[in-house]
Amino acid sequence: MNEVESWLRRWAGRLDQGGEAELDARANVGMFRTRRLLGTLCPRDVEQVREIVASAVPGVSLYPLSTGHNWGLGSREPVHDGAVVLDLRRLNRVRLLDLEAGAAVVEPGVTQGRLAQLLCGSPYMLNVTASSAHTSIIGNAVERGVGLRRQRCEDVAGLEVVLADGELVRLGSWPDADGRVVPYRHEVGPALMPLFAQSNLGVVTAAVIRLLPRPRALRLVRLTFGAARLAAAVDELRDCRAQRLVSGVLKIYQRPDGEECVAYCCVDGDPGLAAVACGLLLRRAADSGLFDDVRVLEDPVPGLTGGLGDGLERGPERGLRGLERGPESGLSADDEQLAEQLRRCLGGDPSCNELVLERWFGTRSDGIDANPGGAGYLFFLPLLPFRGEAVARARVLVREVGEETGTRWHPTVNAISCDVIDLAVSCRFPASAATSAHRALDLLHRRFAEHGWRPYRLDIDHMSAGGPPEVLRRLKDAFDPAGVLARGRYER
Ligand SMILES: Cc1cc2nc3c(=O)[nH]c(=O)nc-3n(C[C@H](O)[C@H](O)[C@H](O)COP(=O)(O)OP(=O)(O)OC[C@H]3O[C@@H](n4cnc5c(N)ncnc54)[C@H](O)[C@@H]3O)c2cc1C
Repeated sequence: MNEVESWLRRWAGRLDQGGEAELDARANVGMFRTRRLLGTLCPRDVEQVREIVASAVPGVSLYPLSTGHNWGLGSREPVHDGAVVLDLRRLNRVRLLDLEAGAAVVEPGVTQGRLAQLLCGSPYMLNVTASSAHTSIIGNAVERGVGLRRQRCEDVAGLEVVLADGELVRLGSWPDADGRVVPYRHEVGPALMPLFAQSNLGVVTAAVIRLLPRPRALRLVRLTFGAARLAAAVDELRDCRAQRLVSGVLKIYQRPDGEECVAYCCVDGDPGLAAVACGLLLRRAADSGLFDDVRVLEDPVPGLTGGLGDGLERGPERGLRGLERGPESGLSADDEQLAEQLRRCLGGDPSCNELVLERWFGTRSDGIDANPGGAGYLFFLPLLPFRGEAVARARVLVREVGEETGTRWHPTVNAISCDVIDLAVSCRFPASAATSAHRALDLLHRRFAEHGWRPYRLDIDHMSAGGPPEVLRRLKDAFDPAGVLARGRYER
């Protein structure tokens, strides 16, 4: 037995039950090549994380995960072979919930569903994503994931990090001894927190998360238009957002099989303000002559009515609260479900996301990586300028790559600011098409790069950092000279 194996065996013996996950035959929904793992350690608390990291012998490469649901980008797989996964799901304390300051201190195992549930009925809500309620707030934030309200890294006001020598540091706005915190997002002096997003410089063991004031009114405006008008509609909606008629992340779904596009705009805030903004948005939509159908889906008191309750575990009977249903609504069942999901997520409630996953994958979150029904799923996530012409061009690129490879990719516009779009391009494929889907993914990287459109977030087969290699190397040498942490993650 070599030094690394005996180190691992020592740790497996020291961790109590549940501390070492089994080395079973793993799969991942992206159907990326399964990496060779040396083992998986699930520490119980921050002290154990520190000891594991500090005691790592030469040759140990630890790959931290929070809940490991990084679907479409690699799930639980490390970038390289030979890693020991440091699974932090058992660090699952909500250490603080301050409903005056609007902040929570959470550990990596705290899921978005759990924190959203704790906030139910309060004046604050969490910026939730469209992924499962069982995904980690920290895991998504350190990937710079995108919530329905804003990019998740904007929610972070403080980080607790274990450095490669086991030292624990707290950065940003951290609660004082009396638990008081001012959740300011920046540090005084050089910003250190961003060094730990999309990096391999430390293990994040807790974060201060900024909550959002819950709007007293929330309307979702749904606008449909033909793909031939995509460029003009995007430019029109961009101006509506720039003029603050729309809040949160504006979404445009482009149907894979047809020519119809659907935009969802959130209008919210004080009820009077929301009513006026909604009226203005509808008038602009009508005056533009671009949209075929415009309708308002209203939630009178978003998230305050206890919508979450025990919903995390409930089944489809949670249904479609408050939406017109069936034939009267004129919406298909899929459209109704999507609209309801978005409306709830915008109100900080991710509980129906699980139903959507179930509908797509035929299983809930814990089964997705077992490739149910032989289905795979991939993401390509380029940034585009928020311009109609760019979105229309991107649609053509996605179609061309799909046609060349015999795969089907769906581009969804997520406007994360007035000037930037995160284009979430996803592909669901049968196992028999896995090779073609991965070839398409390579091509998408290449074709979009030719237009200067690079992804903001990467899968494990396309990891590389954008910064100057020399600076990145110096940072790695300073923070982790022995290369203990997450080899290959956003590295050059
Ligand atoms: C249908 C569907 C919808 C989705 N919708 C969204 C969406 O709206 N927005 C979105 O952003 N994503 C979305 N996703 C993608 C994905 O499911 C989420 O991003 C999910 O939150 C990531 O998994 P996780 O939270 O378990 O993070 P993890 O998988 O635990 O972490 C992600 C990565 O971050 C690093 N990391 C994790 N924890 C730590 C730590 N403590 N210290 C250091 N490094 C760490 C690791 O390298 C890890 O691989 C969606 C996926 C699907 C299938």
